[in-house]
Amino acid sequence: MIIHIDGKECQCEKGEYILTVAQRNGIEIPTLCHHEAITGQACCRLCIVEVTEKTRSRIVVSCVYPVTDEITVATDSKKVQRERGLILSLLAKRAPESEEIKELCKKYSAPDIDRFVQLDNEKCVMCGLCAKACAELSVGAISTVNRGVTKEVSTPYHEESTVCVGCGSCARICPTGAIELVETENTRTIWGKSFDLVKCENCGAVIGTKEELEKAAKESGLEVDTLCADCRKEAMAQVLKDTYSYN
Ligand code: SF4
Repeated sequence: MIIHIDGKECQCEKGEYILTVAQRNGIEIPTLCHHEAITGQACCRLCIVEVTEKTRSRIVVSCVYPVTDEITVATDSKKVQRERGLILSLLAKRAPESEEIKELCKKYSAPDIDRFVQLDNEKCVMCGLCAKACAELSVGAISTVNRGVTKEVSTPYHEESTVCVGCGSCARICPTGAIELVETENTRTIWGKSFDLVKCENCGAVIGTKEELEKAAKESGLEVDTLCADCRKEAMAQVLKDTYSYN
């Protein structure tokens, strides 16, 4: 089916989310909590758009709004600008230390609203992407705890996790740089726990922590990696070349 986003004709499947269709067609819609590897979040609500169906128009969250009809979408209408500005002002008060949010506020001319209470030294917008990534892609070592202004992401009882493998997926996926990951030459520290880093036996590049490599090996049934992706590719190419030359 065809929908129109900002006047552009976009081909899509019934049931596809507006955000997915827009991104595929090179149309920019701001978002913090959306990641293609993680299923629908709709937490930050920055990706709101205005949808017009027949004569009726309304604001929807594009990352979880499936296309079911031939609609017209405006990603930057006056109504969207106003509501997105408000959402950004709230996010800026929630996470005043986040450079990413400061940039977005500037880009979308978000107003500074005094009546919103500002938190101190905070970068996290509580989108929950980190906990979801850890649950879906890793071991489920972190989760959101508490409610209201005390809500936060943490390991159980704020103690050193017994299951975290130090993969760093949570820190990498965080849209506001709120999770501290410190890497020295031989160690990685995250959520208060330090891990030894394993290096490629050929080129010396960091492959990961011992725990994450062992986890990957256990899941795949293969041996624990000793080479980085590039060196492994080269080694395999060499094996193929030798086999081919031999034949
Ligand atoms: S570093 Fe630990 S908490 Fe973060 S995604 Fe990996 S296993 Fe989960």
